[in-house]
Amino acid sequence: MSHTTARNHAVVIGASIAGLLAARVLSEHYARVTIVERDVIGEDDLHRRGVPQGRQPHALLSRGMRILEDLHPGLGDDLRREGALTGDMTGASRLSAGGEYLAAYESGLPLLYASRVLIERCLRRRTLALPNVTLLGGVAVRAFTTTPDRTEVTGLTYEREDGARADLPADLVLDASGRGSRTPAWLEALGYARAQESRIDVNVAYTSRIYRRHPEHLGGTLLLGTVPQQPMERRVAICTALEGDRWHFALAGWFGEHAPADEEGFLEFARGVGNDDIPAFLETLEPLTDFTVHRYPASVRRHYERARLPLRLLVLGDAMCSFNPTYGQGMTVAALEAEALRAVLRRTRDAASLQRAYFRAAAKALDLAWSLVSGGDGSYPEVDLRQPLAARITGRYFSLVQRALKHDGRVLSEFMQVVHMVRSPLTLFEPSFVIRVLRAVRREKPATRARPSIGAGQASATD
Ligand SMILES: Cc1cc2nc3c(=O)[nH]c(=O)nc-3n(C[C@H](O)[C@H](O)[C@H](O)COP(=O)(O)OP(=O)(O)OC[C@H]3O[C@@H](n4cnc5c(N)ncnc54)[C@H](O)[C@@H]3O)c2cc1C
Repeated sequence: MSHTTARNHAVVIGASIAGLLAARVLSEHYARVTIVERDVIGEDDLHRRGVPQGRQPHALLSRGMRILEDLHPGLGDDLRREGALTGDMTGASRLSAGGEYLAAYESGLPLLYASRVLIERCLRRRTLALPNVTLLGGVAVRAFTTTPDRTEVTGLTYEREDGARADLPADLVLDASGRGSRTPAWLEALGYARAQESRIDVNVAYTSRIYRRHPEHLGGTLLLGTVPQQPMERRVAICTALEGDRWHFALAGWFGEHAPADEEGFLEFARGVGNDDIPAFLETLEPLTDFTVHRYPASVRRHYERARLPLRLLVLGDAMCSFNPTYGQGMTVAALEAEALRAVLRRTRDAASLQRAYFRAAAKALDLAWSLVSGGDGSYPEVDLRQPLAARITGRYFSLVQRALKHDGRVLSEFMQVVHMVRSPLTLFEPSFVIRVLRAVRREKPATRARPSIGAGQASATD
């Protein structure tokens, strides 16, 4: 039976990155879009309860930025006007792996340096400026409403801060409520089986702090950090420039290897990241805030593409799949899913086909990101993913690629294009690329890149 969906009112749960992107896409097809958000969001709010991860550094990958610009032309300019910086992913960064700097090479990938708060604020402004999108803040969604036979979602029930409840009817409900999404529980209450879950336990924690940045620090470099050599290393350092002349300095680690949130312990942990320049630079910096810690137990993927669901219900963003944040993919994957939704909405109006096609396309869109995370984290002995032989061979090959990044600029550039999701990972298996990797590894030599001058306020002599 065909259920052509009326397109009067769509409701999105959650006004964070995924919800805002979904609302933008739905606004092209629905007369009205309401975003329902638990937090009351003030324009100048720095941090809010619903997005605790907003206190940690957030990299928006090149593909993510392209999609955001495509959905909101001029968004990049908004961000830059508010102080965001842009620089070449490899040319404007100092990344080291296994104690050596990666090859010096312009990747052609522009990377945006801004806080999570700023990215969300600019995106929210643009989204709420759309004439048919409104935000209903300060209300928490509690359940879906359905037809009597429970085969179709007809809207949702929400609760205000004073405890009063109300129903909000909708032709489509899209859950973008993040990692803690209650969709599995609400569906169970309606008699549906939970969607299958894939889970990779990693016990990661971030400890971070904001410091003052002087433009001449590190000769104008915007990112100083490490690429962990998995599975030998389980610490990572990320020091990234932020709007407002600030550095966001984060130390993260896997499997309980967590940086203490005190001055001495933080510095000591930095001494173990495999690049002596990092603790040396840290010692020169002036802190502007206290430390913040964020714990992240596991990557979780809910396979809605395989589940039986009531019609007129979609899920997007962390609510569907949340990744180990050290890979920096969450916002970009939400953008890819929004792009997939846009394509599906354009070609079908039938409720069943729309749901099926969307979850299939979204699963495909997040497969690459999930494979990078499962390949990397799956290499640690603590993770038992029972990977097939092909995946294990690929894992070995990737560790060769990681070594080659230090010695061959083209390998580095092409690898980064894959990490930033602008090129297919299949390019890493093209014979010419494999040959470059093997050649680079065979002629391994000492670091090819000069180390940055680390003095605060002092330009690098090598730039
Ligand atoms: C430490 C850390 C670092 C990260 N670093 C990066 C990075 O470098 N790059 C990157 O791309 N991604 C990163 N991420 C991931 C990124 O934060 C998310 O992928 C991104 O914010 C998209 O999330 P979302 O919009 O799906 O959900 P969230 O950002 O979690 O937002 C969910 C929203 O739903 C609201 N909500 C929840 N329940 C209800 C309810 N019942 N009713 C109404 N509203 C509700 C919440 O208040 C919130 O506003 C990081 C994550 C962590 C934890």
